[in-house]
Amino acid sequence: MCSFEEEVNSLYNYIFTQTKSTFYAFNKAYAAHSATTPLEPWTLARRELKPHDVQIEIIYCGVCHSDLHFARNDWGMTVYPIVPGHEIVGRVTAVGTHVKKFKAGDLAGIGCLVDSCQECDNCKEGLEQYCSEGAVFSYNGQERDGSGNTYGGYSKSISAHENFVLHISDKLPLQGVAPLLCAGITTYSPLRHWKVGKGMRVGILGLGGLGHMAVKLAVSMGAEVTMLSHSAWKKADAERLGAHQFVLTTDEAQVKSVTGYFDFILDTVSAEHDYNFYLALLRTNGTMVCVGVPPAPAVIPAFNLIFGRKSFAGSLIGGLPETQEMLDYCAANNIVSDVEVIAMKDINEAYERLLKGDVKYRFVIDMATL
Ligand code: NAP
Ligand code: ZN
Repeated sequence: MCSFEEEVNSLYNYIFTQTKSTFYAFNKAYAAHSATTPLEPWTLARRELKPHDVQIEIIYCGVCHSDLHFARNDWGMTVYPIVPGHEIVGRVTAVGTHVKKFKAGDLAGIGCLVDSCQECDNCKEGLEQYCSEGAVFSYNGQERDGSGNTYGGYSKSISAHENFVLHISDKLPLQGVAPLLCAGITTYSPLRHWKVGKGMRVGILGLGGLGHMAVKLAVSMGAEVTMLSHSAWKKADAERLGAHQFVLTTDEAQVKSVTGYFDFILDTVSAEHDYNFYLALLRTNGTMVCVGVPPAPAVIPAFNLIFGRKSFAGSLIGGLPETQEMLDYCAANNIVSDVEVIAMKDINEAYERLLKGDVKYRFVIDMATL
């Protein structure tokens, strides 16, 4: 007697051996069906290749804390079933008739975005993430043609318009490149926008997937970098990653030594925390940018900003031109993510470890294990 899953798999294998194009219509994947149930094998239907589409067979997919926030509906906006994953690298297997930028066999990547209007001021400026009609995210998004939800990289393959596909260098280890598609660009973009560089005192708050990329990137840009972490055991790693200083945020004396010290703080923390505590570490005219998205809203009294003319800002991933710039910058400067490669079946355990901060410093799924 076959289980349902075995039946689906045998149907899938039959189709795969019949025609390659149908193979891509049906896709093996891992999905969450509710906020309280684990991710499990699922089969999804991908759209037919459009004239501008690039089809990628996924080799590695990074595991972002946003995947976990979405799978567990932390932000109250999840549509189930959900297939997370927006740190996607792989090889092009087919291209639509009008595609000019890619050919079969190329290495390619897809990050958090798969579409946008491409006509509004933000899109024209290469800020597709702020598309005034709403960017289409790689998962938990709505296709612009009304054909349904988008599904992410915990799957065999994915297709997107060539304008949303990135070129990947073959100079760097591919598993270390995957996290650049979200953790890399989410930290690179604000560091560039606020002109982080030589002579600036920069604090990186939270040493996780985003935080470890932020340390590497800010150091490479010439800033003086301090790791602000609530985990004492991460001190040696912070130094190995290039941080010039480590401050344990639970140690009063250490925090006092950097009060009023930083020009710029990048906050990558995923859990609820007091922004005011860290705003006090900024010097006059300093800026704190949050990229971490804790589920609960925060309260910031105006006094904490007006004394010292401080700025509190946010930043969302990065647009396509800047994402390509970041990938090229990382290839030129030999920067990749520190990863722990896992098998697809271990994703639920990986989520539990992510919540405990037990990852050095990004899980990446080997999609051959799907
Ligand atoms: P992660 O790997 O889990 O890292 C989060 C880090 O936050 C932890 O390593 C830990 O660092 C710190 N932290 C966790 N709990 C804490 C607590 N209770 N108090 C203080 N610090 C705590 O997560 P990630 O993948 O880097 O993602 C971080 C956040 O960014 C998530 O909320 C994610 O959704 C968001 N995100 C935003 C964007 C965007 O475009 N803005 C893009 C991607 C991700 P220490 O142990 O060093 O303190
Ligand atoms: Zn992400």
